[in-house]
Amino acid sequence: MSPGSDPAAGAHGPLAGTGLDQPGRRDPALVLQEVFGYGAFRGPQAEIVAHVVSGGSALVLMPTGGGKSLCYQIPALCRAGVGVVVSPLIALMQDQVEGLRQAGVRAAALNSSLEAGEAAGIWRALEQGELDLLYVSPERLLSPGFLDRLAALPLALFAIDEAHCVSQWGHDFRPEYLQLAVLAERFAAIPRVALTATADPRTREEIRERLQLQQGRVFLASFDRPNIRYLLRDKDEARSQLLAFLAERRGEAGIVYARSRSRVDRFAADLRAAGFDAVAYHAGLSSEARSSALNRFRRESGVMVVATIAFGMGIDKPDVRFVAHVDLPKSLEAYYQETGRAGRDGLPAVAWMVHGAGDVPQLRRFIDDSDAPEAQKRVEHGKLDALIAFSEASDCRRQVLLRHFGEALLEPCGNCDLCLEPNTSTDVTEAARKALSAVYRTGQRFGAAHLVDVLLGGDTARIRELGHGSLSVYGIGKELDRGQWRSLIRQLLAKGYLLSDTESRGGLRFGPDSLVKPLLKGEASLALRLPPPAKERRQSGSGERGAPAPSLELAGEGRERFEVLRSWRLEQARTQGVPPYVVFHDRTLIEIAARQPTTLPELAAVTGVGQAKLDRYGEAVLAVLSSG
Ligand code: ADP
Ligand code: ZN
Repeated sequence: MSPGSDPAAGAHGPLAGTGLDQPGRRDPALVLQEVFGYGAFRGPQAEIVAHVVSGGSALVLMPTGGGKSLCYQIPALCRAGVGVVVSPLIALMQDQVEGLRQAGVRAAALNSSLEAGEAAGIWRALEQGELDLLYVSPERLLSPGFLDRLAALPLALFAIDEAHCVSQWGHDFRPEYLQLAVLAERFAAIPRVALTATADPRTREEIRERLQLQQGRVFLASFDRPNIRYLLRDKDEARSQLLAFLAERRGEAGIVYARSRSRVDRFAADLRAAGFDAVAYHAGLSSEARSSALNRFRRESGVMVVATIAFGMGIDKPDVRFVAHVDLPKSLEAYYQETGRAGRDGLPAVAWMVHGAGDVPQLRRFIDDSDAPEAQKRVEHGKLDALIAFSEASDCRRQVLLRHFGEALLEPCGNCDLCLEPNTSTDVTEAARKALSAVYRTGQRFGAAHLVDVLLGGDTARIRELGHGSLSVYGIGKELDRGQWRSLIRQLLAKGYLLSDTESRGGLRFGPDSLVKPLLKGEASLALRLPPPAKERRQSGSGERGAPAPSLELAGEGRERFEVLRSWRLEQARTQGVPPYVVFHDRTLIEIAARQPTTLPELAAVTGVGQAKLDRYGEAVLAVLSSG
């Protein structure tokens, strides 16, 4: 039974569903506990909710998984009238609405996928004050007559989700979003809350201006995602490295990002051949293939999606346990967004990436070859530079990442490869000199692969053709292995000793004399971190030491109870045709498995168990526990 059917709430009042039967506002903290089953607000949520409940408008910047939804859902429940949520992704609306209904909130979605009859039903419910939250696509909201109809209803607020869609610079730009400014004029007295996980100051200003939120308050949460472990690896053989990384992650849901469609297809096939449940996703696939991949990912557990960046915004599956990059993304923002899809539920998750010198010239070429204006190309190159600095960081990845978003993390995080695998730098002056000589002797026009062949004294067709076997630098670098040379060259690039020529397909040439000369003449030295020799890496388990799968903290019987609860949940989800997490999050099941409640009040104390779910599933959960 939903709280809305409580007669005391008033059969038709807009406050129905909140338990409010008289004017005055219900305490947001109570709604948090009773409806959502959470004991406390997180970060700035409490302040945001209080501000909006009292009628204020706001721009909310919070990382993915930070808890943006409650920032408008709770005010919508505390204020009179229906809360209207503008959301760009129809596919997701239904899941959100479903999640709310499970919590006893009266929610509905109006979008183009509805039959006329269904839409009429929703309007009737709206006019009778029977809805707390209404999700609409921007197209629908702006369609003729829609706003007039809304204006006749009591409205609690407008929420504009994924607000960065108004930004023309971002890749999620939606022209309809620009027209949402009309809400400010038409509904001046109704609070508007715009929300986004995009942090950069320029986008922020653009949103404020375009949505006319200059008067509203800006709430900026920390962009740190402490539960995500950042692991970067030198790219050696991406395929086998990925398989080694995934070896302990069978059955976990995750995303593997690759740059091109053909690479996506190839990696997906490789993973399937290795026995993983992997599906490919990119814009070149039919829309049926794409929606089937998306559905399997959302509705089943343990599906891995191999994808281009086409797989992105709106992946709000909470239990994605890893995001792997086999190619460098195009900017640090993109990296942050993509990795941010892991661990929205706050449980341990991993962001893993292999990166190699070969990626950079290619990305530079993409930028140069695009039709974008010069100014934009410069911005893009700058963004790529930030990513390179991140991948060549020597202290703590998280510190570099957060600094980029204008945040300072005072202590190293303890949850990235650099913190976990301290690896002191060694003097590489001699090796760097050899690498520079190889660049010079081969005419400053070859890429890393060929240079390393020359240094190692390889016997390749190219070396024979070019006669590079007779150069003085041929075979002088046997003290390092291929992976170490590549890492060294990549770091020389990052530090500016070498520059890559985008014209000559990534050929390397000298950086400024002021850097290169002192090193060549022996007047300067250089210390860098090099990866251990390949032989050692293989012995220590493919370099993944120090990165155990973030398995659940449950041991033995607790783990078994969790599995039993999980299959019960899957059953429930299947019968109702909803994603499993809508019934209960993993986090809630884990807590239930650990605490083993035997009574309904004990179960109600578990995070994520609100009144409606207690009424609906309580007895069944207790039965599952007592029979297990
Ligand atoms: P966002 O939209 O910012 O990516 P969500 O609103 O989907 O994030 O919230 C992320 C997860 O955190 C959800 O599973 C949500 O239920 C949970 N959550 C949000 N706020 C709280 C809270 N105060 N206490 C416990 N869990 C919360
Ligand atoms: Zn760190």
